[in-house]
Amino acid sequence: MRIGEGGRLEVTDQTETCGCCNQVRVIVETRGRLMLCDACFLGMNRPLVYECEGCGRYQRIPHPMYRYQPTPGEFGNTSWACQVRCGAQTHWRLKPSELDRVPAEDCPDSWGVRDEWLASIRAQRLAERQAGAERHRQPVIDADGYWQETLVFVALLGMLASLALPEKVRSYVVLGCLLLWLARSHLQVAAGRLLLQWARPMHG
Ligand SMILES: [Zn+2]
Ligand SMILES: [Zn+2]
Repeated sequence: MRIGEGGRLEVTDQTETCGCCNQVRVIVETRGRLMLCDACFLGMNRPLVYECEGCGRYQRIPHPMYRYQPTPGEFGNTSWACQVRCGAQTHWRLKPSELDRVPAEDCPDSWGVRDEWLASIRAQRLAERQAGAERHRQPVIDADGYWQETLVFVALLGMLASLALPEKVRSYVVLGCLLLWLARSHLQVAAGRLLLQWARPMHG
């Protein structure tokens, strides 16, 4: 505020579109033609690395996005453009290793005691990593399912084909199919191992 012409009080705080976050805010700093709000001013001086909710990749953002996170581990409720992969407005959360860099006086109140959330975020990350490892094991189970279905198909095909065979041969074929069916879980394991050995070099 300042006293202007005729003694009127004038608001001197200039509200303009911030050149960084594109929000109409009080401008605290002008760098050439770039006008910055207080949040972007802080963010530009201390850009932190955030994880995108859309693609899970990391991006350095010159805006204190952590202010919009209900807790240190949750994604914020305000969007920022993901330039890593999504090419869209997405939600963000701080990379855990960056949590230490949040100014203590700027931590959202909802986060609670700093030492406690630092400990809990590490535990959450560990759980997520373990869940991620679990998901990576999923394709092997799918491969097993695939082999089981293939064996059932082969057995059925064998039985159908045997109808066209002489009676003596037919009984052997049916017996063979039955044995194949009974041994399916063993065959499945063996086939799965072969498949894994064959696939491993391709994954590097
Ligand atoms: Zn801004
Ligand atoms: Zn993204």
